[in-house]
Amino acid sequence: GQCAAVCPTGAISVKDDRAAVWEAIYDDNKRVAVQVAPAVRVALGEEFGLPPGENVMGEMVAGLRKLGFDEIYDTSVCADLTVMEEAAELRKRLSSDENLPLFTSCCPAWVNYVQTKYPEYKHNISSCKSPMQMFGAILKEHAESIKKVDGREMISVAIMPCTAKKQESAREEFKRDGVPDVDYVITTQELVLMFKEAGIVFSQLEPEATDVPFGISSGAGIIFGVTGGVSEAVIRRLMEDKSREAMMDISYTGIRGIEGAKEAEITLGEKTIRIAVVHGLKNVDDVIKKIKAGTVQYDFIEAMACPGGCIGGAGQPYALQRNTRERSGGLYKADKLSQIRRSEENPIIMPLYSGLLKNKVHELLHVEYNQPSNEG
Ligand code: SF4
Repeated sequence: GQCAAVCPTGAISVKDDRAAVWEAIYDDNKRVAVQVAPAVRVALGEEFGLPPGENVMGEMVAGLRKLGFDEIYDTSVCADLTVMEEAAELRKRLSSDENLPLFTSCCPAWVNYVQTKYPEYKHNISSCKSPMQMFGAILKEHAESIKKVDGREMISVAIMPCTAKKQESAREEFKRDGVPDVDYVITTQELVLMFKEAGIVFSQLEPEATDVPFGISSGAGIIFGVTGGVSEAVIRRLMEDKSREAMMDISYTGIRGIEGAKEAEITLGEKTIRIAVVHGLKNVDDVIKKIKAGTVQYDFIEAMACPGGCIGGAGQPYALQRNTRERSGGLYKADKLSQIRRSEENPIIMPLYSGLLKNKVHELLHVEYNQPSNEG
């Protein structure tokens, strides 16, 4: 049902990889790593009788350990990398005045939409992989370095609010030597079923922390799950004024909130940057039409196919109002409580660049899309 509305491939039946994930977990020759997207933590609890918007990240981590996952990570760690790369890309395009507006690329349904409906804008799509795909590439790369001691094959799983992420992970561009960087995508709803299959009583779980070496994320990475979050995170990175007040001011620029299309202007040095934040494919389509007609002009467009952004994804628990306000409130609260709120201040980012990512930034963090695949 809902998938057809947001899923550009028109796949009505959603591929369910729970059986394959169970098999990998019970296979002694496999080490199974899992990453969890920001939006999942503020919706999962609804299925277990908790109030909408309640952040259950710690309980979910504990539950995932009980299920038997060997390594558990937070996708927002790699959202910080996306911010670093996308901010650099925006700076570069602004100085050369090429391929503007820059389109965000973390929503695969939007990327497919541009490729199929507006191919003339395909060069506007950011070359940055989505946080999920960046993390998948990093995990597989990391697995290579420990394979000698470990001996096990690494399987990478992603828990996502989204059905389109299943198609994204299966794209040829995200396979290296024929092997996908993300082997299986499980939706929030499918994770609920896995907990039930394992007889886990969610309310009895004691919160636990994610694993090292990729265990620290910033508040900027967490708000990726709500419409406007990517823009806010990128602005935090680009703003020269790093004071607390300046950061608070960003939230008042108009990029927060759930209107279908929002605009903001940010001054960076001599330049004024015009930003559009759009969610829901109908609103996205309206904005592209206006750009084509020349009635609006932007430098940066954040587009998410689902209403409210990923918190309203088709893989999330169903709710009549999608609980957009509560779920987004949950993510902004997590951001506010984070000790690190800017991606560049995440202490694991710089060591990643000088270590695992050395000479591999292009291969592991960027992508050039071929034609969209219609298989799912
Ligand atoms: Fe998936 Fe929707 Fe998020 Fe796009 S906005 S990545 S389709 S959940």
